[in-house]
Amino acid sequence: ANISFVTSAHALKQLPAPEHPEIAFAGRSNVGKSTLLNRLCNRRNLVKVSARPGKTQSLNYFLVDDSLYLVDLPGYGYAKVPKGMQHGWQELITSYLSTRSTLRCVVVLVDIRHELKASDLQLVDWLRHQGRSYLMVYTKADKLSANDRLKQRAALDAGFSASDRNRVVFSGKTGDGRTELLELLDTFL
Ligand code: GDP
Repeated sequence: ANISFVTSAHALKQLPAPEHPEIAFAGRSNVGKSTLLNRLCNRRNLVKVSARPGKTQSLNYFLVDDSLYLVDLPGYGYAKVPKGMQHGWQELITSYLSTRSTLRCVVVLVDIRHELKASDLQLVDWLRHQGRSYLMVYTKADKLSANDRLKQRAALDAGFSASDRNRVVFSGKTGDGRTELLELLDTFL
């Protein structure tokens, strides 16, 4: 695929014209979102893997084959981001997620090692309430043993009401889950 960076939007009025379907990627800072996007696109450095988590406050647009936008949403839940900026995140992201007509699916990333977090659940509940299609991705699967991976998958599935149909266990390190995620995303396009 031919993939290029398009723009960084800091406000709704800076978004590109809604002329292609888009898939957005959301998750807490440091969840592995940049790594996943690079893996999906088979690019080492398309999205900068963050040395300083919580920095990006913009929506970053990438164009795939002149026909699809991938939208990297700013990570949330980073304690060192000032409160005012957290509100700014909410405002920009919630207005984007609730109004963007060409948005087909929101991929919500959570770290498979962590317990259910209120901020993630809040986002998923809100998406459901909005009637927005979404997929869960449990990241950094390589960091757990096969046994713990199954246990954590079951716990998170229970928390998010997720199942094989709308959840992928993923590793940016090994590439596990990549094909599965691409196949699920394809159903929205
Ligand atoms: P972002 O803040 O959500 O964009 O997260 P990054 O992609 O920048 O990753 C944060 C840190 O987690 C980096 O040190 C990555 O190398 C590491 N990381 C991300 N995904 C994985 C994964 O699947 N496996 C492992 N072992 N490390 C990962």
